[in-house]
Amino acid sequence: MVQANDQIAPVDLASTYLVKIAAKPADLTDQSLATLQQYTPFKLRYRASAIALIEMLLSHQHETNTITSVVSQLQLRLQQKLGPASVAILDQQSASATADYYLLDIDLLPKLSDQVVIIDIFDDAVGQVALVRADQPDELLRLPVHFRAKLPADISLKPLSEKRLTLAPQAEVDNLLQQVSVKQWRDLIQTMTINEDLLTAGRRFLSRYALRVRQAVQHDGQPQPDIACDNSADWIAQKFQQLGLEVEIDSFQHARSQIGKGKIGDYTMRNIMATLPGRGPHKDQVYLLTAHYDSIASKTEGWEQQWQTMPAPGSSDNASGVAILLETARLIRHLDLDYSVRFIAFSGEELFLYGSRYYCDLIQSQRTGLSADQIAGVLNFDLIGHDQDGLLDIHVVHDERSKWIAQALRRVTKMHGLPLDLRLQYNPGFIYSDHSPFWEIGIPAVLLSEESAFNSRESIKYIHSQADNMEKITDPLGELALKLAVAATVELAGVGDSAPMLPITMTEKLLWNVILFPNPVNLAQDQSLSLDYFLSQPAWIQIDLYNTNGQKVYEQNYRLGKIGGKKGRNGVFRWNGRADTGDRIASGVYLLRVTATPASGESETINLQVALVH
Ligand SMILES: [Zn+2]
Repeated sequence: MVQANDQIAPVDLASTYLVKIAAKPADLTDQSLATLQQYTPFKLRYRASAIALIEMLLSHQHETNTITSVVSQLQLRLQQKLGPASVAILDQQSASATADYYLLDIDLLPKLSDQVVIIDIFDDAVGQVALVRADQPDELLRLPVHFRAKLPADISLKPLSEKRLTLAPQAEVDNLLQQVSVKQWRDLIQTMTINEDLLTAGRRFLSRYALRVRQAVQHDGQPQPDIACDNSADWIAQKFQQLGLEVEIDSFQHARSQIGKGKIGDYTMRNIMATLPGRGPHKDQVYLLTAHYDSIASKTEGWEQQWQTMPAPGSSDNASGVAILLETARLIRHLDLDYSVRFIAFSGEELFLYGSRYYCDLIQSQRTGLSADQIAGVLNFDLIGHDQDGLLDIHVVHDERSKWIAQALRRVTKMHGLPLDLRLQYNPGFIYSDHSPFWEIGIPAVLLSEESAFNSRESIKYIHSQADNMEKITDPLGELALKLAVAATVELAGVGDSAPMLPITMTEKLLWNVILFPNPVNLAQDQSLSLDYFLSQPAWIQIDLYNTNGQKVYEQNYRLGKIGGKKGRNGVFRWNGRADTGDRIASGVYLLRVTATPASGESETINLQVALVH
């Protein structure tokens, strides 16, 4: 029961503090952050490989003491848990304040209005990033940039579960790959780029900007926009329907405001979802293939005033990704897949990932038929149609939880001989596309893109401008991206029960490849019993031998990071069948237990039976 008093939030008595933790990438793991969170409650607002931003709510009552002591305690715990780490308070806001934080490409700093406060600048794998605080996100939307993002609200640190990849018959997949049509893909991109009015033949919208929707109200006296974005949504929905998929259109509201003017517009945006139901034992589990269909040309002069009529072709960003979804759906629609596959075309991506955030909110609050646990994984395609330099590479950006998907993609690439340089990037700080809201709620998601850095100039010149047109679409990269999408979807979702099941553990376990030999061991003939094992990180190793009564008859341990507890292969354990006292142990069946404990404290245990004969 809730007391009336509990509902009065002491907003004026509390502040939120934004704190930056900097540590070595190897130390700043999900596990170490989760451990820290158990001691000091915080919201994880952002994490990159070497930086985490956490938000703590603290009462004002003994303000100075409290924050100082919390930070020093945090510092102490960090050093215990993470090794050398630094802690700094970046910002303080009243708990009732509404301003939020955004990350921007550093090149934009000179263009910021004085309504935007620069909080910090740091380096990450994408380049230099500015952290800013702003009351009105629309202040930032006018900036001509690709890389900008709202900080996640609270990134989930729920533990990894083991995933398995079931391989489909190679011939079946290779046959599908023969049918991949790069021409179809190009035609789909062209149709989305032109975006001809479905009702008035010959009328071309040449834009899919997310505010150009039927249900739009302008409060600022500006003219009502046309329906360019909705027209494209209708066309995408029709295409999926023609392929025989179950299509749903889900709409959500977006309000726009401006400093000094308040609310200037209300818009109804739409996500399109098309589902291919699975037919195997995992049909309740679903793989998502996602891509945003909205476009923007904010780099073009006058965009802010004329977005209602200005072209935003968005051929590469991101008609290319939606076309991959449509072409993949065409090729796999007749397969009896084990898992279900859902294709989602999101809107509002260019305006801070609104469509994917809305979808993840639905999942999180269980307002959709699907729970987070039912989503096996997400492949998000964004900017995947343009190759500048003839080096056919695709970047696969993943976090810890989605590493297994990235590895599965690499495996698929090799298995089907795709001449593609797949660049796997562990980069949990890359939050600039629709995979990011899935990361926040603990769902494994990867981004597939031609580019994933600020400092690469090949993409940045044309994206979000009118130069992102059909001339940017290059067939060789498109063909490989398509083949990768088709093969990966089939391999992940699995084909029917005719498939030879070859389960492969994709999650990196701490302790693996444990081999006890010979077994049974005859100590009259063999010199000793040996144990080999691999560690994916340094650990303390405890080896215990129990008899069938549960009594420990022998034990051995190895130190963290030393011989027997080092990362990689360890083959030091040899046992001659005698207890510590030197006495021979009787013949019989014994249980050998290996416990590995890394610095983060979470142990893994493996039990093995061994038959001993003298
Ligand atoms: Zn995009």
